Amino acid sequence: MQWHPRFKKKGKAQPKFYVDTAKIQFNAIHVKLENIADSKRKSRAKANWIKLAEKDRITFGNNISYTNPRVTFDGIHFWISVGVEYELSIDKSTNPGIGIDVGIKDLAIDSNANITQNINKTIKVKKLKQKQRRLQRSISRKYNKNKKGESYCKTSNIIKSEKQLLKTNQRLTGIRHNHIHQTTNEIVKTKPSFIVCEDLNTKGMMKNKHLSKAVQEQCLYEFVRQIEYKCNWNGIKYIEVSRYFPSSKTCSCCGNVKSDLKLSDRTYICEECGLVIDRDLNAAINLKKYGELMIA
Ligand SMILES: [Zn+2]
Repeated sequence: MQWHPRFKKKGKAQPKFYVDTAKIQFNAIHVKLENIADSKRKSRAKANWIKLAEKDRITFGNNISYTNPRVTFDGIHFWISVGVEYELSIDKSTNPGIGIDVGIKDLAIDSNANITQNINKTIKVKKLKQKQRRLQRSISRKYNKNKKGESYCKTSNIIKSEKQLLKTNQRLTGIRHNHIHQTTNEIVKTKPSFIVCEDLNTKGMMKNKHLSKAVQEQCLYEFVRQIEYKCNWNGIKYIEVSRYFPSSKTCSCCGNVKSDLKLSDRTYICEECGLVIDRDLNAAINLKKYGELMIA
């Protein structure tokens, strides 16, 4: 048997390295990585302590152990990712549960009518998206302008613009992910006894060309994933409802099922009991009711 090394191509592989678990240390604003400075002199040894961009981001203390630390470089920033192991104290909650309906128009609405806005509709994100489009267009124009025969060449101006584009893209993803983390945290912090979500058919939605972009930008799947694991961390029962459960079509007041409800009907009007309610709120209340039946 012969073994050949597989070489990584310069510029293709993401630069990253592994840090020895036993030697890694954290405090509120610094991380200690061994062997960055190997001098015995005190002033040089300080170089092993690297300042973190965020304060108190990684939990530290006596009973905490770290696993699999890695440092990566994404072209602009250095990132450290690490597994943190410690004991959680979970106390059971007695608050009533909630149902959450996720969607395209608003990110989410819960059964108490708390609406989480769609971050992609804010001016900040819209402006960034415009900037992104402009940069993409100008880069492709520059590539075409500097084309030599059949091959494209990378000028220093193209490299500069590509770095700007990378920065804009990162900022957009950062804003979207931060929004989801904050909203899921806020929901979990209210400590309901259970949370009901619909099992999302994201793959099916991605096939719909009118919806696919919105679904992708909204990170719906990520939202549900975070709700689920944050529930587990906080001792909240997480209930997933099949996507065939008629949460939108059922009347949350009398239980009548309206089979001819269209996606464009934003308000639910019940013909049986005369209930007039926002379509998504109606769905969220139905999800909550489903959860109450499951618990009982
Ligand atoms: Zn009704």
